[in-house]
Amino acid sequence: MDGLLQLAAERASAYLETLKERRVSPGPQQIAQLAELGGELPGAPSDDAKGTLELLDRVGSPATVASAGPRYFGFVTGGSLPVTVAANMLAGAWDQNAFSPVASPVAAELERVALGWLIEILGLPPQSYGALVTGTQQANFCGLAAARHAVLARSGWNVEEEGLIGAPPVRVVAGREAHSTLLRAVSYVGLGRGRVELVDVDDQGRMLPDALPKLDDHTILCIQAGNVNTGAFDPAAELCHAAREAGAWVHVDGAFGLWARAAPGRAALAAGVELADSWAVDAHKWLNTPYDTGIVLVRDAEQLKAAMSLSAAYIPDAPRAAMDFTPEGSRRSRGVAVWAALRTLGRSGVADLIERCCVLARRMADRLQEDGWDVLNDVVLNQVLVSFGDDDATRRVIRDVQDDGTCWCGGTEWQGRAAMRISVSCWATTEADIDSSAAAITSAAARD
Ligand SMILES: *Cc1c(COP(=O)(O)O)cnc(C)c1O
Repeated sequence: MDGLLQLAAERASAYLETLKERRVSPGPQQIAQLAELGGELPGAPSDDAKGTLELLDRVGSPATVASAGPRYFGFVTGGSLPVTVAANMLAGAWDQNAFSPVASPVAAELERVALGWLIEILGLPPQSYGALVTGTQQANFCGLAAARHAVLARSGWNVEEEGLIGAPPVRVVAGREAHSTLLRAVSYVGLGRGRVELVDVDDQGRMLPDALPKLDDHTILCIQAGNVNTGAFDPAAELCHAAREAGAWVHVDGAFGLWARAAPGRAALAAGVELADSWAVDAHKWLNTPYDTGIVLVRDAEQLKAAMSLSAAYIPDAPRAAMDFTPEGSRRSRGVAVWAALRTLGRSGVADLIERCCVLARRMADRLQEDGWDVLNDVVLNQVLVSFGDDDATRRVIRDVQDDGTCWCGGTEWQGRAAMRISVSCWATTEADIDSSAAAITSAAARD
């Protein structure tokens, strides 16, 4: 390897060491420099692999967004725990194909162990199983595919064989504040996002149980644990009980909010989601593993397997091969980083990570409120929505904060109003980061 990995590790370390001092968003000059990566396709091999790495670092690193750093509050992003970055480097050298234990015993075992620990730490039914996928978008797709299989099997319809043309009807019910990726997943499974029966929500985006249509045993009810704007939770216990009585399937989009269950002080927010049938959650957001890793879990994993399975025709002797639980064939070993995170943090380490982010989100809301700005949501978790006056003013402040570079916050719309959305989801964020970021936000808002 001629020192290539040492060089990569040195450059990667230097990058991470300087992450907390640098501007969060790259400037126009750094972006313009990306032109150096292009040019003509080389006509012949080069023996300058080190030069390739050096160019990548010199031009590429400054044009990254410091989203792995402590003052990136955009979307719901999360950094990467150091051990997960290092474990991924080793796994990069392994280059395992994680589609089946036949192809990689270690990748299969890491994924199996990681899934078991996830089920335990999230307090989900112990017999559940699933798979690691790219993110919650894909996990929502997998959960809905399992739901579609189960609901149609009740009428004796095999959707994987027969398709949806001529199938008995399937209903999908979701809150008006369902995440856009949930609706996209509905379209991927052929159930039509335009046919979703949308349920009214309260001022925090929580589904109103009284507004629930009559459910039945060919309905998929999609509930949310953690609204991407407010961090609020649908009342899972009440909704799941109604669904159980009617024989409906419940799928939970818990991209980041499901992690509340790992923190004793927040777990009550997500009480009742264990009564559901399938769950989607991210590791790359709040568990702070590197991109990209999401998790689908299904109470009766045979339903997921029926929806996804390939092995009957492929490799019949592989028990619980990942390819039977995901839409993927060849895939990377996502279990490595999830396993490394959970092994290193342990139960109380994960609880601390979640709780600390929630406390820091509250601190951010307090600082901004003290400075006279309008916090629009009940800050129960890690999400804070702020308005700086009318919509134009709020949008201007968001742009100026992003240009300033101290921190990065995105924009959203909340119940008809423009808002700045601040998500605290990184292990590295400190009280000092919150205070300096709040000061930068206030000075941008006061300038405008
Ligand atoms: C982020 C998010 C998703 C999508 O997750 P990806 O990891 O980006 O695929 C879905 N639902 C909610 C509530 C989210 O916050």
